Amino acid sequence: MTTSETERPAAAHQGRHRPPGTGLDLAGLTKTFGSGRKVTRALDEIDLRTSEGSFLSLLGPSGCGKSTVLRILAGLEEPTSGQALVTGRTPSELRRSGGLGVAFQDAALLPWRSVVANIRLPLQVSGVRPSKDPDELVADLVALVGLEGFESARPAQLSGGMRQRVSIARALVLEPEVLLLDEPFGALDDMTRQRLNLELQRIWSTQAATTLMVTHGIAEAVFLSDQVAVMSPRPGRVVEVVDIDLPRPRTPEMMRTPEFHALHDRLSELLFGRTGEPA
Ligand code: ADP
Repeated sequence: MTTSETERPAAAHQGRHRPPGTGLDLAGLTKTFGSGRKVTRALDEIDLRTSEGSFLSLLGPSGCGKSTVLRILAGLEEPTSGQALVTGRTPSELRRSGGLGVAFQDAALLPWRSVVANIRLPLQVSGVRPSKDPDELVADLVALVGLEGFESARPAQLSGGMRQRVSIARALVLEPEVLLLDEPFGALDDMTRQRLNLELQRIWSTQAATTLMVTHGIAEAVFLSDQVAVMSPRPGRVVEVVDIDLPRPRTPEMMRTPEFHALHDRLSELLFGRTGEPA
């Protein structure tokens, strides 16, 4: 069920001569912010590899550097040392080629644009030519995220969950090879979050994108992931990568099985220690 660092395909601390990951490949990634006495060491020697098309979650306490990892992979931040590759390319190469889709906790939609106009925006900004007619592509995405009938609505007319659906559709419009999700459902109530997790699983299974999701939700991480990397409090290090070998597709009923609970307990223990105190 869980594996040691030496057995798993996405492993931490495997030395310099390890084969590269075909999905995400982080090697000795370190990031410090500021200078002099105000230095913050956010990331300390992060090593992580995943295979193409896999779903990895980064789980850890607030401030441990999860978003910094994601921002480096998105090409929005440069590492201080070490290297980040995504499907064999640097984040900025991937970004330039339109191979990257990103969705943040705050859906960050343009309030004056309709649902379809928000989803279409990355196509207009990047100039990337999609594999099919853009109108058809956007209509397919609207259907994929379950927003039919709301095509012309403005963000203010939508619920929080619907806005996040628009945000995910927008992240998918460039037909990305890599999807980066920063607590995409973090601001939503538990029931909506669970429903959207089911939707996200369905969407992910049709898109085959290499995915990284930042979260502090243990159940959400187990439900969606192939692997969960647990990070320590600052400076962020990878404590362990846990394989989630539950069959797919995952169902809400699975969340009540002993296997699910065992994985949940293992991740809680890594995060908080046996006593429930922060590790
Ligand atoms: P998480 O996503 O796990 O909550 P972050 O990656 O946002 O953590 O932040 C990790 C640490 O780096 C925090 O201590 C945060 O204050 C610091 N940090 C993040 N971005 C910056 C920045 N641009 N300037 C200075 N410190 C930063």
